[in-house]
Amino acid sequence: MNLSKPDFPIFVSFETGYFLLILKNKLTDMKVDELLHRALNLEFLTAEEGVFLFEQASTAELMYVGARLRRRHVPNNNVTWIIDRNSNTTNVCIANCKFCNFYRRPGHEESYITTIEQYKQKIDELFRFGGEQLLLQGGHHPELGLDFYTNLFRQLKERYPTLKLHALGPPEVAHITKLEQSTHLEVLQALKDAGLDSLPGAGAEILSDRVRRLISKGKCGGQEWLDIMHAAHKVGLTTSATMMFGHIETNYERMDHLARIRQVQAQKPEGAKGFIAFIPWPFQDEDTILKRLKRARNTCTGDEYVRMIAMSRIMLPNITNIQASWLTVGKQVAQLCLHAGANDFGSIMIEENVVSAAGARFRFTAQGIQDAIREAGFTPQLRNQEYEYRELPENIVQQELDRERMIVD
Ligand code: SF4
Repeated sequence: MNLSKPDFPIFVSFETGYFLLILKNKLTDMKVDELLHRALNLEFLTAEEGVFLFEQASTAELMYVGARLRRRHVPNNNVTWIIDRNSNTTNVCIANCKFCNFYRRPGHEESYITTIEQYKQKIDELFRFGGEQLLLQGGHHPELGLDFYTNLFRQLKERYPTLKLHALGPPEVAHITKLEQSTHLEVLQALKDAGLDSLPGAGAEILSDRVRRLISKGKCGGQEWLDIMHAAHKVGLTTSATMMFGHIETNYERMDHLARIRQVQAQKPEGAKGFIAFIPWPFQDEDTILKRLKRARNTCTGDEYVRMIAMSRIMLPNITNIQASWLTVGKQVAQLCLHAGANDFGSIMIEENVVSAAGARFRFTAQGIQDAIREAGFTPQLRNQEYEYRELPENIVQQELDRERMIVD
């Protein structure tokens, strides 16, 4: 065979290869179209189908479908937001998550448990800023059991009857359940009776146990996280769900995370709101052990975040509200997310200590968040944790933000 001169079979094979490539692209386009149509019909796509779309559909296609689905769930032009404060019960924690710069080991000189006097100052300030809700979370303190939290909630509610407590999260509920040797249902019912209004979707990270073993071994497993949310829905607590992505997980693990949350939502009791919102955000890596030891970096670009917002809409047809995390991606990317399926801008976070400790620097005032929503082409609407609309209180005090340390829009 003369290799210097292409013979007929090689020529055919080049042509065939080109033809096969075109055919493959055509088939990919057809499958993308088919999956997007099914998404528009609110069908449950499998995790594998989600991966296919995430990897093959263009950003424009995903945004278009995300935005159309948003209009199915929330037909008006409103983008909701909330005034609340993220305070912490304690920074003492024995879970040792590798992405967390917030916690201190028991006995550490910087460890604390927030006192009632400190709560009073925080809540009085929250009310002055027009808020009514405390998002209250903390570490897995080895000595703080159910009585500590029920007493705390009762004291806060006695002093501030209109205060809403959006508090703890599945990993803390799992920790308390273990300390008390009780059940999720009993612990959640006792917390609710003491004044808990709703349960944040904290600590979900990625629900795959492979990932959790590597980044948050001391926390509850993925299935227990979901079981606790199901139990919360049974006792009548509204919850949210989250995903912290962009570290060591695969695309399949992201989509499986969404599919598993969707499944729990499908099983919520009749009449329960279940998961009222879903909030994905990219891992913040500054000074974390995960970055130093596992070399995991936040590589999530604005484009990828927008795609994940659209995929969240597509994969979660039974969750009404999708929130863009401006705290971690900044104003402009978050504004773009409003055209990709998000309908909520979350809280102005009068106080936030956990994600900020890993590098999240963006901040909004009440005025700034409304301006940003208007600038993106939508109407800002203040809400509460149940996503009911609130009138903006008159004479609210605008926050003074530290522009040296924060990026204020
Ligand atoms: S993320 Fe929460 S559970 Fe994990 S170490 Fe930090 S405080 Fe503890």
